[in-house]
Amino acid sequence: MGVLVQKFGGTSVGSIERIENVAKKVIGYRDQGHSVVVVVSAMSGETNRLLDLAKDIMGDAPHGQELDVLLSTGEQVTIALLSMALQKRGCRAISRTGWQLDIKTDDARNKARITSIDAARIKQHLDDGAVVVVAGFQGIDSDGNITTLGRGGSDTTAVALATAIQANECQIFTDVDGVYTTDPRVEPNARRLEQITFEEMLEMASLGSKVLQIRAVEFAGKYKIPLRVLSSFEEGPGTLITTEDKQMEQAKIAGIAFNRDEAQITVKGVPDQPGIAAKILGPVSRANIEIDMIVQNVAWDNTANFTFTVHRNDFSRAMEIIEDTANKLGATGVNGDPGIVKLSLVGVGMRSHAGIASQMFETLADEGINIRMISTSEIKISVVVDEKYLELGVRCLHDAFGLAKDGTVDESKAS
Ligand code: ASP
Ligand code: MG
Repeated sequence: MGVLVQKFGGTSVGSIERIENVAKKVIGYRDQGHSVVVVVSAMSGETNRLLDLAKDIMGDAPHGQELDVLLSTGEQVTIALLSMALQKRGCRAISRTGWQLDIKTDDARNKARITSIDAARIKQHLDDGAVVVVAGFQGIDSDGNITTLGRGGSDTTAVALATAIQANECQIFTDVDGVYTTDPRVEPNARRLEQITFEEMLEMASLGSKVLQIRAVEFAGKYKIPLRVLSSFEEGPGTLITTEDKQMEQAKIAGIAFNRDEAQITVKGVPDQPGIAAKILGPVSRANIEIDMIVQNVAWDNTANFTFTVHRNDFSRAMEIIEDTANKLGATGVNGDPGIVKLSLVGVGMRSHAGIASQMFETLADEGINIRMISTSEIKISVVVDEKYLELGVRCLHDAFGLAKDGTVDESKAS
C-alpha cells in the first residue's frame, strides 16, 4: 500500500471504452488500499489533429504561445472524461489541469521544463480520499501563461508529480507490457525484462527504443523514483526501472538497441593539423545538426580521414556544408552514405566483465557483417554496419549473449 502515480498514454485512453477500462483499473488499485494520482495524455491522434489545425492557419510559421493554449486542451478532455468514468462507478475523483495544480514551468514555448510543483494541493485531495486525475504535458509559467512540455511530455509530468509527492512508484501504462531485450518485431525471441537500471534504460531510450520519454527517465533516475512500464490492456508485472542493486541478478547485457535513422559522412585526406576537427564539425554544429559518432584516422602521409554520423533527415544538409568545408580545407574528397544503422549492446554488467567487446565483434564477423565504426562508453558498445545487416546483426547478438526467452548461453564463448 502506498501512493502511486499512474500515467496512461494516448492509446490507453484512445476511446470511451478504453477510458472506462482505465477507470476500472484505477479503482482496482484504490481498492487494494493505494492512494492514486492518475496522469493522462490526450486521446490518441488528438495532439496531431490540433497541430494540423494550427498549421492550417499558420503554415510553418512559429506558433508560440497560442499553440500551447491549443495543445493543452487535448489533455483537458481526457481528465474530464476519466473523472466521469470514475465517479459513475462510485469512486471519488477530481480532475485537475496543470495550472490548477500550480505546475510551474519556465517560459520556453512548446517545450517548457517543470520548475516546481505544489505538492500540498495534491496531498490535500488524496487525504480527502479522491483519485486525482491530472492533465499531463502542461503547466504554467511565472506570467500565468499556459505552457506545454514537448511531445511525449506526459511521462515527465507523471515523474515530476511522483517526485513532488514522494510516491512509492510511478507507473507508466502503455501499449506494450514492458521493456524488452530488443524490439520483438526484429527478434521474435526478445524477452521482457523484470528490471533494468535507469542508466541502461537511458541508453536504450536514446539509442532508439521508444517506450519512454528520455527526459522522464533522467528525471526519475535523478530523484530515484522507481518507474514501472506496464500494459494498459493485459495483466502483468511489467518492467521495473530502478537503481542498481546488489541483489539484482547481474546480467552482463540488458539489451540490444538499434537506430535506423543515421547516415555516415567521410571527409578524406584533410591535413592532420591542430584545429582540423573543429574546422570540419564547427559549421555542421552551427547549422544545428547533431553529430553522433566521430572517428578520425591518420594516414602515413600526414593526412587524416574524418568520419562522423548524423541523423538521416539532416544528411543532405550536412553533405552540402561538408562539401563546402572540404573544398576550403583542400581535402581530397567527401563520401556520404545514408544506408547505415547503429547497433548497440547495453548493460551495466559490462563494467565488471572483460571481453564483451571482442565477443560482440567475433559474433558479427562469424556472420560476415562488416563493422564500419565503433564507439564505446562504460555501459555500451555501438557499431555502425550496413543497413541490410540490421536484422541479422540484432538476432545474432541477441543469441550470442543469451538474451532469448529460453536463453541458453554458450559458456565457452561467454567470458
Ligand atoms: N499529448 C502529448 C503528445 O502527444 C503529450 C503526451 O502524450 O505525452 O505528445
Ligand atoms: Mg507517450
